[in-house]
Amino acid sequence: MEFEIIDFHTHPFSNLNENLCRFPSSEMDKDFTLSIMKRYGVSKFCGSVLGHTPTTPDNVWEVLSSYNDTALKLYNYYGGSYVAGCHVHPNHVEESKKYIDKFHEKGLNLVGEIVPWSNKMQNTYNSDGMFELIEYFTKKGMILSAHPTPPDDMDALCESHKNTIIVGAHPGEKEQFTRHIERAKKYENYYVDLSGTGIFRYRTTRKLIDEIGAHKVVFGTDYPICDLQMYIGAIAHDELLTDNEKRLILSENAKRILKL
Ligand SMILES: [Zn+2]
Repeated sequence: MEFEIIDFHTHPFSNLNENLCRFPSSEMDKDFTLSIMKRYGVSKFCGSVLGHTPTTPDNVWEVLSSYNDTALKLYNYYGGSYVAGCHVHPNHVEESKKYIDKFHEKGLNLVGEIVPWSNKMQNTYNSDGMFELIEYFTKKGMILSAHPTPPDDMDALCESHKNTIIVGAHPGEKEQFTRHIERAKKYENYYVDLSGTGIFRYRTTRKLIDEIGAHKVVFGTDYPICDLQMYIGAIAHDELLTDNEKRLILSENAKRILKL
């Protein structure tokens, strides 16, 4: 059975500094990303550009805007294959809005992955600046890919933004996983993406679907941090999932929430 695959959670790069692979090889350039995606049958890959430049309160916007610029350049370079994700920052609301507009004008409806712990956001989504930004991009029909802050902070985010589609990344280990489930059950607008830590635990994906429904589970890898083929295999070859569940997770849900 062949499935269309959309990788909701990636971090494309244009140079070594933006390549978060632990063990990058010299062949990993812009074209490498496109070729590995094609090789494994991924039709579209989504997400923000990240990098190794350490952020400080003084330079964080300079760094994030350079990642946004790279994302827009890569969007042009990759054509329709890349759904670029936009960085925003609560201390830089007006500048962030300009980027939201730029991304939205191109039909890109993704904010994030936002990574509060590394981006000098005091590891919270619950700030006046962030709330203003969330309201701004929600009105445009854009959605948030969120690296999880502590579980109570994520709950508060969902509670105060019930009209925003929020996709929490990384199922994680049991405690974090349980909180993802409780949150997704309580909040219609909360989804879980499968990238990063979690699904190597046997029956995790099955459990997630049984608890929150396959329509709220989104396929992601965290490429190039994580290995594309492992995640594709973990879903496409999971004998505990039905073909219809695989279709929803591997592409249909991402298409629906990103309006692809
Ligand atoms: Zn990520």
